[in-house]
Amino acid sequence: MQKTILVTGGAGFIGSHLCRALLDAGNYVICLDNFFTGRRANIRELMDHPDFEIIRHDIVDPLKIEVDAIYNLACPASPEHYQYNPIKTMKISVLGTLNMLGLARRLRVPLFHASTSEVYGDPLIHPQPESYHGNVNTTGIRSCYDEGKRAAEALCFDYKRMHSLEIRVVRIFNTYGPHMAMNDGRVISNFIVQALRGDPITIYGDGNQTRSFCYVSDLVRGFLAFMKSDFSGPLNLGNDGEFTIRELAEKIIQLTGSRSRIESRPLPADDPARRRPDLTLARQKIGYEPEVSLEEGLKRTIPYYQKLLSEAT
Ligand code: NAD
Ligand code: UDP
Repeated sequence: MQKTILVTGGAGFIGSHLCRALLDAGNYVICLDNFFTGRRANIRELMDHPDFEIIRHDIVDPLKIEVDAIYNLACPASPEHYQYNPIKTMKISVLGTLNMLGLARRLRVPLFHASTSEVYGDPLIHPQPESYHGNVNTTGIRSCYDEGKRAAEALCFDYKRMHSLEIRVVRIFNTYGPHMAMNDGRVISNFIVQALRGDPITIYGDGNQTRSFCYVSDLVRGFLAFMKSDFSGPLNLGNDGEFTIRELAEKIIQLTGSRSRIESRPLPADDPARRRPDLTLARQKIGYEPEVSLEEGLKRTIPYYQKLLSEAT
């Protein structure tokens, strides 16, 4: 029988790809979003689908609805956006997740929660396995997001222990692709837009910090496999290739044929020096393997921003 799935944050970057994948799998999808960082354009092509519905709602406020499963993605993800109103960010992770857990408990349905590699903070262990408890500054400018997400994980596992709720907690590592907002502020969208405009490429710090970049289709495939499994998590998902930010800038300059120069900017506080997922558990539990290389993913993403920029002029 067709299932009705609630996706909070469904008009955002990852949420919109997830809504599409859930529709393609034959589900009825309710996309809930307050459009803080999400956009109607991300879900425009889904709007005519007979099995797709949109609700404008803020998850900090309780919601009553009948569904068969919940994917909880609502939360600004870019440092620029989550630091814009840090108190609200904490409310979204704590009160918003509590509301969704309460709903899942009342309905007795599974809740999939989008956590983050940020729970590892500026990691002292490399690569990061799920068993690592992290190195997070509890009072810094990233703590509204990092600690909010850590509290949300705790809530998920307490609902599992106290109420036998079925949960899936995924720790997402830096993911990119079409539908990331042009003004998102994250590194891949910034660099591609700067390169296409011929503006300076802004490297924060010396550019030797590393990240591991996952193309969105790999991540969403991992979400669906994880939801089908009987493992609660936490589970790392991402791509375990690792690049310095300078290497990323050079790759984007090369792939766009840009004449942009590289410019240094101050490194924001608490910016993690290294990050790479240990995917051993994902491989064991759900047979996950990232398939799209950074170069291939960038080649798929650059035309998306070319189109946005041509529409903007
Ligand atoms: P995004 O900002 O594009 O999407 C977030 C969506 O949530 C937006 O549509 C936004 O409008 C919506 N939203 C925000 N606050 C809300 C609220 N109070 N009520 C209802 N909707 C609200 O970001 P994204 O990259 O798609 O991230 C999706 C989820 O994945 C987030 O929970 C984020 O923390 C997590 N995540 C993403 C990454 C990544 O690299 N993209 C990495 C780690 C974790
Ligand atoms: N970064 C950068 N220039 C930018 C945007 C980001 O050098 O214009 C750096 C940032 O300092 C960080 C890395 O790129 O070291 C990834 O940043 P992003 O905001 O994408 O994600 P996060 O820090 O949350 O991993």
